[in-house]
Amino acid sequence: MIVGILKEIKVEENRVSMTPAGAEVMAHHGHTVLVEQSAGVGSGFSDDAYRLAGAEIVATPAEIYARAQLVMHVKEPQPSEYDLIREGQVLFTYFHFAASEPLTRAIMKSKAVAIAYETITGPENTLPLLTPMSEVAGRMAAQQAAKYSERSQGGRGILLGGVPGVPPATVVVLGGGVVGTHAAQMACGLGAKVYLLDLSLERLRHLCETMPKNCFPVMSSPATIRELLPQADAVIGAVLVHGAKAPKLVTREMLKSMKPGAVLVDVAIDQGGCFETSRPTTHTDPTFLLDGVLHYCVANMPGAVPLTSTVALTNATLPFAVALADQGWQEASRQNPGIKEGINIALGQVTYRAVAEAFGLPY
Ligand code: NAD
Repeated sequence: MIVGILKEIKVEENRVSMTPAGAEVMAHHGHTVLVEQSAGVGSGFSDDAYRLAGAEIVATPAEIYARAQLVMHVKEPQPSEYDLIREGQVLFTYFHFAASEPLTRAIMKSKAVAIAYETITGPENTLPLLTPMSEVAGRMAAQQAAKYSERSQGGRGILLGGVPGVPPATVVVLGGGVVGTHAAQMACGLGAKVYLLDLSLERLRHLCETMPKNCFPVMSSPATIRELLPQADAVIGAVLVHGAKAPKLVTREMLKSMKPGAVLVDVAIDQGGCFETSRPTTHTDPTFLLDGVLHYCVANMPGAVPLTSTVALTNATLPFAVALADQGWQEASRQNPGIKEGINIALGQVTYRAVAEAFGLPY
């Protein structure tokens, strides 16, 4: 099969959908890999690295769309690409269709097959192509909490770990899922005292057994949050209620009880945020001060560390991409129900219930 790797054109997106190491694996499976010129540069991979891996560098996205049977991206195709997509072509990327009716209609019109990273499932209903980005965002959240606790960044002027003779900072993490656990691990590693809140007793039992000694997994409730906020030097928002907007766990009123210069990192901002006062920010202007509390609410945190994010993402996507190239999308989805869950639109028809329901389309 001919596999095409496009350069990302969305603002602040420096990831690429396949590393040279992935291209080499594809080539070993007998596939031709086309890589758009400079597609890997934002993640530190040169065109020569892809050539050495056996890929062919092509000049334009038009050439990729014209020749490839399987086209890979990181973000959804942009309007400038809509007319290039061909009938029957397989597109494999993050789509988030429910967030965009124009994108949904454009892909339906193209009669391509859209397989969305975000809805591919793994064992026990996990989302294997979302997990790596949650791992990156979680680890980065602790790093941002440390950075914005510095005086020059507007914070309280503290080290999360303290030093001998000076107590460590208190970090409160709301949500003990993928993001929250990774954030807590990093904050613990820096030496902070970490409270990790979740609503699931089963999850809390697991966290008690697996997290470091300076992490205290506790049941989440409005009362516990109210009690912990005055002690917190940083609060990391990492809750998710599947299929719903994030619950507002910290209200504006509650900010009054916090220390001036404390940091809120709202990782859940991509689902609306779990602090009432959050609003999305960007990597170029990541924070704002409100009622004396510093807010960091970047919706695409992994974009700041494209090298790590690219390798983490492609580690997860490559086995699926190889299966799609080896077997074709129909056979691959017959053999792997997780891939079938990824098919959102096929040959003009919406095949994923939530997308159809979002826009009242037939399903
Ligand atoms: P997850 O499903 O693994 O974990 C969410 C956890 O929140 C669950 O354990 C759940 O029990 C818990 N929870 C739900 N309601 C709660 C409450 N009231 N109090 C305490 N805990 C509660 O999800 P995840 O992968 O960790 O993702 C968390 C959030 O981070 C999502 O909104 C996701 O979209 C977002 N995210 C953002 C970025 C970014 O760049 N900003 C990147 C990746 C993920």
